[in-house]
Amino acid sequence: MLFKWKSYVFIFFAIVFSLYLCGCYAPPTFKPVTSMRPPPRKVEPYIVSQLNRYYVRDWKYIVIHHSASSSGSAVEFDKYHREKRGWENGLGYHFVIGNGIGSGDGQIEIGGRWINQIDGAHAGVQEYNHHGIGICLVGNFNDSYPTAAQMASLSILVEYLQGRCRIPSENIIMHRHIRETECPGRNFPYYKLLAQTVRY
Ligand SMILES: [Zn+2]
Repeated sequence: MLFKWKSYVFIFFAIVFSLYLCGCYAPPTFKPVTSMRPPPRKVEPYIVSQLNRYYVRDWKYIVIHHSASSSGSAVEFDKYHREKRGWENGLGYHFVIGNGIGSGDGQIEIGGRWINQIDGAHAGVQEYNHHGIGICLVGNFNDSYPTAAQMASLSILVEYLQGRCRIPSENIIMHRHIRETECPGRNFPYYKLLAQTVRY
Protein backbone atom coordinates (compact mmCIF):
# COMPACT_ATOMS: atom_id res chain seq x y z
CA MET A 1 0.00 0.00 0.00
CA LEU A 2 2.79 2.36 0.95
CA PHE A 3 4.57 1.49 -2.29
CA LYS A 4 1.46 2.28 -4.31
CA TRP A 5 1.07 5.71 -2.68
CA LYS A 6 4.70 6.57 -3.49
CA SER A 7 4.20 5.43 -7.07
CA TYR A 8 1.30 7.80 -7.53
CA VAL A 9 3.35 10.69 -6.17
CA PHE A 10 6.22 9.77 -8.45
CA ILE A 11 3.95 9.52 -11.52
CA PHE A 12 2.34 12.86 -10.68
CA PHE A 13 5.70 14.68 -10.44
CA ALA A 14 6.96 12.83 -13.54
CA ILE A 15 4.01 14.20 -15.52
CA VAL A 16 4.44 17.73 -14.17
CA PHE A 17 8.19 17.64 -14.89
CA SER A 18 7.71 16.33 -18.42
CA LEU A 19 5.10 19.04 -19.14
CA TYR A 20 7.59 21.60 -17.89
CA LEU A 21 10.28 20.23 -20.21
CA CYS A 22 7.83 20.30 -23.13
CA GLY A 23 7.27 23.97 -22.55
CA CYS A 24 3.66 23.50 -21.50
CA TYR A 25 4.36 25.14 -18.21
CA ALA A 26 4.67 28.86 -18.57
CA PRO A 27 6.01 30.75 -15.59
CA PRO A 28 3.77 33.64 -14.52
CA THR A 29 4.57 36.71 -16.60
CA PHE A 30 4.90 40.22 -15.23
CA LYS A 31 1.96 42.33 -16.30
CA PRO A 32 2.79 46.00 -16.79
CA VAL A 33 0.79 48.17 -14.44
CA THR A 34 0.33 50.88 -17.05
CA SER A 35 -2.71 49.11 -18.45
CA MET A 36 -4.28 49.28 -15.01
CA ARG A 37 -3.98 53.05 -14.78
CA PRO A 38 -6.93 55.24 -15.72
CA PRO A 39 -6.54 57.04 -19.06
CA PRO A 40 -4.76 60.39 -18.70
CA ARG A 41 -7.08 63.37 -18.48
CA LYS A 42 -6.77 66.07 -21.10
CA VAL A 43 -4.87 68.87 -19.47
CA GLU A 44 -6.72 72.13 -19.95
CA PRO A 45 -4.21 74.70 -21.04
CA TYR A 46 -3.88 77.80 -18.93
CA ILE A 47 -4.86 79.97 -21.88
CA VAL A 48 -8.27 78.30 -22.13
CA SER A 49 -9.13 79.21 -18.56
CA GLN A 50 -8.02 82.77 -19.32
CA LEU A 51 -10.13 82.98 -22.48
CA ASN A 52 -13.21 81.62 -20.77
CA ARG A 53 -13.32 84.82 -18.72
CA TYR A 54 -14.29 86.96 -21.69
CA TYR A 55 -17.65 87.42 -23.32
CA VAL A 56 -17.53 86.89 -27.10
CA ARG A 57 -19.58 88.56 -29.80
CA ASP A 58 -20.23 87.14 -33.27
CA TRP A 59 -17.06 86.28 -35.17
CA LYS A 60 -16.98 84.53 -38.53
CA TYR A 61 -13.33 84.20 -39.49
CA ILE A 62 -9.90 83.55 -38.08
CA VAL A 63 -7.21 85.43 -40.01
CA ILE A 64 -3.60 84.33 -39.58
CA HIS A 65 -0.71 86.78 -39.90
CA HIS A 66 3.01 86.90 -39.32
CA SER A 67 4.71 89.96 -37.90
CA ALA A 68 7.30 89.99 -40.72
CA SER A 69 9.86 90.78 -38.01
CA SER A 70 12.32 88.47 -36.30
CA SER A 71 11.13 89.43 -32.81
CA GLY A 72 8.22 91.10 -31.06
CA SER A 73 5.46 91.04 -28.52
CA ALA A 74 1.96 92.39 -28.01
CA VAL A 75 3.34 95.39 -26.09
CA GLU A 76 5.82 96.18 -28.85
CA PHE A 77 3.26 95.94 -31.65
CA ASP A 78 0.73 97.88 -29.57
CA LYS A 79 3.21 100.73 -29.19
CA TYR A 80 3.96 100.68 -32.92
CA HIS A 81 0.29 100.69 -33.90
CA ARG A 82 -0.51 103.56 -31.53
CA GLU A 83 2.49 105.73 -32.31
CA LYS A 84 3.25 105.00 -35.96
CA ARG A 85 -0.19 104.07 -37.27
CA GLY A 86 -2.13 106.38 -34.96
CA TRP A 87 -4.67 103.73 -33.95
CA GLU A 88 -6.29 104.76 -30.68
CA ASN A 89 -7.21 101.15 -29.86
CA GLY A 90 -3.61 100.12 -30.32
CA LEU A 91 -2.62 96.57 -31.21
CA GLY A 92 -4.45 95.70 -34.41
CA TYR A 93 -4.47 91.96 -33.76
CA HIS A 94 -6.61 90.15 -31.21
CA PHE A 95 -3.82 87.73 -30.31
CA VAL A 96 -0.04 87.54 -30.63
CA ILE A 97 1.91 84.27 -30.41
CA GLY A 98 5.57 84.76 -29.52
CA ASN A 99 8.61 82.99 -30.96
CA GLY A 100 10.90 83.33 -27.95
CA ILE A 101 12.47 86.63 -29.04
CA GLY A 102 10.72 89.55 -27.38
CA SER A 103 8.08 87.27 -25.84
CA GLY A 104 7.89 83.62 -24.85
CA ASP A 105 8.16 80.84 -27.41
CA GLY A 106 4.56 79.79 -28.00
CA GLN A 107 3.26 82.37 -25.52
CA ILE A 108 -0.25 83.50 -26.42
CA GLU A 109 -0.84 87.17 -25.61
CA ILE A 110 -4.42 88.41 -25.49
CA GLY A 111 -4.85 91.85 -27.03
CA GLY A 112 -7.10 94.63 -25.79
CA ARG A 113 -9.31 94.27 -28.86
CA TRP A 114 -10.20 90.73 -27.78
CA ILE A 115 -10.77 91.72 -24.18
CA ASN A 116 -13.08 94.52 -25.32
CA GLN A 117 -14.48 92.53 -28.27
CA ILE A 118 -13.88 95.27 -30.80
CA ASP A 119 -12.99 95.18 -34.51
CA GLY A 120 -9.45 94.33 -35.44
CA ALA A 121 -7.13 96.45 -37.58
CA HIS A 122 -5.22 93.67 -39.28
CA ALA A 123 -6.94 92.64 -42.49
CA GLY A 124 -7.05 95.81 -44.56
CA VAL A 125 -10.58 94.79 -45.59
CA GLN A 126 -13.60 96.03 -43.61
CA GLU A 127 -15.49 92.71 -43.66
CA TYR A 128 -12.53 90.84 -42.18
CA ASN A 129 -11.62 93.51 -39.67
CA HIS A 130 -15.20 93.48 -38.41
CA HIS A 131 -15.86 89.73 -38.43
CA GLY A 132 -12.32 88.34 -38.34
CA ILE A 133 -10.24 87.39 -35.32
CA GLY A 134 -6.67 88.48 -36.07
CA ILE A 135 -3.88 86.21 -34.82
CA CYS A 136 -0.29 87.29 -35.40
CA LEU A 137 2.65 84.89 -35.08
CA VAL A 138 5.93 86.65 -34.37
CA GLY A 139 8.47 85.94 -37.11
CA ASN A 140 9.05 86.36 -40.80
CA PHE A 141 7.93 83.16 -42.44
CA ASN A 142 9.36 84.10 -45.80
CA ASP A 143 12.80 83.62 -44.22
CA SER A 144 12.09 81.19 -41.38
CA TYR A 145 9.42 78.88 -40.04
CA PRO A 146 7.10 79.15 -37.04
CA THR A 147 8.50 77.30 -34.04
CA ALA A 148 6.92 74.03 -32.92
CA ALA A 149 5.69 75.80 -29.78
CA GLN A 150 4.07 78.54 -31.85
CA MET A 151 2.22 76.02 -33.99
CA ALA A 152 1.13 74.03 -30.94
CA SER A 153 -0.24 77.21 -29.32
CA LEU A 154 -1.89 78.30 -32.56
CA SER A 155 -3.68 74.94 -32.81
CA ILE A 156 -4.94 75.23 -29.24
CA LEU A 157 -6.11 78.81 -29.80
CA VAL A 158 -7.76 78.11 -33.16
CA GLU A 159 -9.52 75.03 -31.81
CA TYR A 160 -10.76 77.02 -28.83
CA LEU A 161 -12.01 79.91 -30.97
CA GLN A 162 -13.70 77.56 -33.43
CA GLY A 163 -15.58 75.89 -30.62
CA ARG A 164 -16.45 79.07 -28.77
CA CYS A 165 -17.50 81.09 -31.83
CA ARG A 166 -18.68 78.20 -34.08
CA ILE A 167 -16.24 79.09 -36.85
CA PRO A 168 -16.04 76.48 -39.63
CA SER A 169 -12.64 75.26 -40.85
CA GLU A 170 -13.06 76.91 -44.26
CA ASN A 171 -13.15 80.27 -42.46
CA ILE A 172 -9.66 79.83 -41.05
CA ILE A 173 -7.74 81.86 -43.54
CA MET A 174 -4.35 83.41 -44.19
CA HIS A 175 -4.11 87.16 -44.67
CA ARG A 176 -3.05 86.64 -48.30
CA HIS A 177 -6.37 84.95 -49.06
CA ILE A 178 -8.13 88.29 -48.74
CA ARG A 179 -5.53 90.85 -49.72
CA GLU A 180 -2.47 91.32 -51.96
CA THR A 181 0.22 90.43 -49.46
CA GLU A 182 2.70 87.63 -48.70
CA CYS A 183 1.45 87.47 -45.10
CA PRO A 184 1.86 85.10 -43.22
CA GLY A 185 4.87 84.20 -45.36
CA ARG A 186 5.39 81.44 -47.91
CA ASN A 187 6.69 78.98 -45.28
CA PHE A 188 3.62 79.15 -43.08
CA PRO A 189 2.28 75.55 -42.82
CA TYR A 190 -1.36 76.39 -43.52
CA TYR A 191 -2.50 72.90 -44.49
CA LYS A 192 -0.79 71.38 -41.49
CA LEU A 193 -2.77 73.77 -39.30
CA LEU A 194 -6.02 72.89 -41.05
CA ALA A 195 -5.30 69.18 -40.65
CA GLN A 196 -5.06 69.75 -36.89
CA THR A 197 -8.27 71.71 -36.58
CA VAL A 198 -11.74 70.49 -35.73
CA ARG A 199 -14.26 70.13 -38.55
CA TYR A 200 -17.36 72.20 -37.89
ZN1 LIG B 1 -1.05 90.02 -42.24
